[in-house]
Amino acid sequence: MSFRADLELSGRSVLVCGAGAPALAPVRRLLDASARVTVVGASPVASITDLAGRGLLMLVERAFEAGDIASASLVVPATGDAALDFAIVELAKQTRAPCVIAAEVEQIPDLPQTGSVILVGGGPGDPGLITLAGLEAVRRADVIVCDRLAPLSILQHAKPAAEIIDVAKIPRGAHTSQERINAILVEQAQAGRTVVRLKGGDSFVFGRGGEEWQACAREGIAVTVIPGVTSATAAPALAGIPLTHRQLTQGFTVISGHVPPGHSGSTLDWAALARVNTTLVIMMGVATLPAIAAELIKHGMAGDTPAATVADAGMPTQRTVLGNVADIAERTISAGLAPPAITVIGAVAAFQALDDGGRRTDVASDRP
Ligand code: SAH
Repeated sequence: MSFRADLELSGRSVLVCGAGAPALAPVRRLLDASARVTVVGASPVASITDLAGRGLLMLVERAFEAGDIASASLVVPATGDAALDFAIVELAKQTRAPCVIAAEVEQIPDLPQTGSVILVGGGPGDPGLITLAGLEAVRRADVIVCDRLAPLSILQHAKPAAEIIDVAKIPRGAHTSQERINAILVEQAQAGRTVVRLKGGDSFVFGRGGEEWQACAREGIAVTVIPGVTSATAAPALAGIPLTHRQLTQGFTVISGHVPPGHSGSTLDWAALARVNTTLVIMMGVATLPAIAAELIKHGMAGDTPAATVADAGMPTQRTVLGNVADIAERTISAGLAPPAITVIGAVAAFQALDDGGRRTDVASDRP
C-alpha cells in the first residue's frame, strides 16, 4: 500500500541515483525545493556536471552502490532503468530510507491540482457550534460558497486569498438558483480549487447537500461531507427543550413545513403525524404554521398539546414563544417571529428544568 505525504525538502539531503537525462527533472525540482542534492552516476549528462560545477549539487561520478543510501534522508532512483530503479527502492526499504521514484518526484511539486468539494455543515448560527473538522476545512479552502444561514463569522478564519461566494437564498428575496450553485461548485473544483460549501445546520437536513453531491459526482469531482449540528435538534436544545425525555416521548419526527397541508406538493401524511405520538419538529414552517396546526387538530391532536417556536436559535436575537398547538401560530405571528424558526409540538415543549416555574435558561442548574 502506498501513502502520499507532503515532505518538507528544504535542507534535506537527497540522494538521486542516476546522472543521465532521466535524473534531470527530479534534480531540478529537488533543487527548487532547496534540498541538498547528491547525484551518483557513472556518466553524467552535461547539465548535471554543470550544476555540480556551480556547486549546486554534489556529483559522485561512479555507478550507484548500496552503501550510498545510508546517509540520505530521501532516495530518488532515476537511472532510467526500471528494473534498477525498482532494486533501489527495495534496497531503500531495507535501510528504511524513504524513497520516491523519479516519476513521482515529477508529480509531487506539480500535482495537477485536483479540485474537490467539501460539504460543511456549519451548525445553527453560533460560530461555536461548527465542528473542528468544519472549521479546519474553512481554514484550508480556496473558495467558500456560503449561505445566509451559515455561521458567517467563521469566514474570518479563511485564508486571506480565499474567495468567498455568497449564494444566499433568502425566502422570497435574493436568490441564487440551485442549478447555479451546483454549477459554481463544479466550475471552481474543475479550476483545481478546494471548495468548501458552507451551510447552516447539517448539509443533509433540508440542505440540498445530496443534490450538490450528485452534481459534483456527475463531473467526477471528489466530495467529502463534514456533518453539522442541525438546527432541528440545536434550536430546541438552545431554547431548553429536550426533544426526547423519558417520561414524555420516545422519539421525534422532523418535517418541512415549506408547503402547507393540502398543497399539491405536500407528501406528508398529516393524519399519521397527528397521532404519531413523538415530538414534532417543524422546519421552514413559519408561514404555513396556521394551516399545519389546524390540520393536526383536525386529525385528532389535542389542542392543548404544548408547542413552542424558536427563532434565530444560537444567535443574539434568539427568541422563543410558548403556547399550545391551538394557539402557537397566532402567538408566533403576534410576537413577530420570523424565519429562521422551528416549531416544536409535543409534551416536551412545556419542559421546565425546575418545577417551580423556573426559567428555561436555568436548565444547567438542574444538574445534580
Ligand atoms: N440544513 C439546515 C436547515 C436548512 S432549512 C439545518 O440542518 O439546520 C432552513 C430552516 O432551518 C429554517 O427555515 C428553520 O426552520 C431552520 N433553521 C435554520 N437555522 C435556524 C436557527 N438558527 N434557528 C431556528 N431555526 C433555524
